[in-house]
Amino acid sequence: MHSLPSRILLSCFLMSFLAYTIKQFTPRISARFIARVSYEPVASRAMHIQSIPMWEGTGNNYAYLVTDDKSKESVIIDPANPPEVLPVLKEKTDSGAIKLSKIINTHHHHDHAGGNTEILKHYKLPIVGGKDCSQVTTTPSHKSQFNIGESIKVTALHTPCHTQDSICFYFEDGSERAVFTGDTLFIGGCGRFFEGNATEMHKALNEVLASLPDDTKVYPGHEYTKGNVRFAKKVLDNEAIRKLDEFSQANKETQGKFTIGDEKQHNVFMRVSDPNIQQLVGQNEPVEVMKSLREMKDRS
Ligand SMILES: [Zn+2]
Repeated sequence: MHSLPSRILLSCFLMSFLAYTIKQFTPRISARFIARVSYEPVASRAMHIQSIPMWEGTGNNYAYLVTDDKSKESVIIDPANPPEVLPVLKEKTDSGAIKLSKIINTHHHHDHAGGNTEILKHYKLPIVGGKDCSQVTTTPSHKSQFNIGESIKVTALHTPCHTQDSICFYFEDGSERAVFTGDTLFIGGCGRFFEGNATEMHKALNEVLASLPDDTKVYPGHEYTKGNVRFAKKVLDNEAIRKLDEFSQANKETQGKFTIGDEKQHNVFMRVSDPNIQQLVGQNEPVEVMKSLREMKDRS
């Protein structure tokens, strides 16, 4: 049995020990808790994008395999050269790493949609793409959406000009954003106006694609950056173009390394309102500037 004073003393000691313990551990516990809360969604949401270079040294095309990490559902974008794409798909489907659900085509040109027939011999898949794409099953309307797995939302953006059936595909997964631009937008450049005109390309680049969030990463259909920078330097001198020049000299691949925000700085076709460019081409209407730039590039 304890006497009353010693019991009071014991209680006081226990209470101050408890208070000290809480004070010591609370900040660390809450810091750890906050860290876990803020990191978890990033890790569970990230979409996975794998580039598959094709015809390296000639066409310098890219096919892209995009996977929803959670469900493993995948789409293959522009698998134009089956000998280079099928081994990658086979290895991943055979091991269960991915479940292939669609072919997506950015436009009908053979070096983008020309592999569909061969891919279909190995995989039964629907084809989502422009109306003139070989074996196409679905042509999504402008701004219509579909999902890949649990977390990737895709929006189709019609960008007619290079071909009339050109569609850019905008992928969102939480805070990750990417746009697959085919031959409409390249890093530092744009596609030729085979089936369209400057009005259409101006709308495609400077209204439709320019309205995407600035942090959207750009994945074009070809690695053309070196040639595009060479042309950009003749038209304009700015910090962003110098940086792109440096990067493209040091890196063979530039896809996914630059954003829509970067393109607004270093892509002369997205700077049709730049007074220095307007002065150089002797035009001040954005569509006329676009037309002049494309003609200059075609001649260069
Ligand atoms: Zn093309």
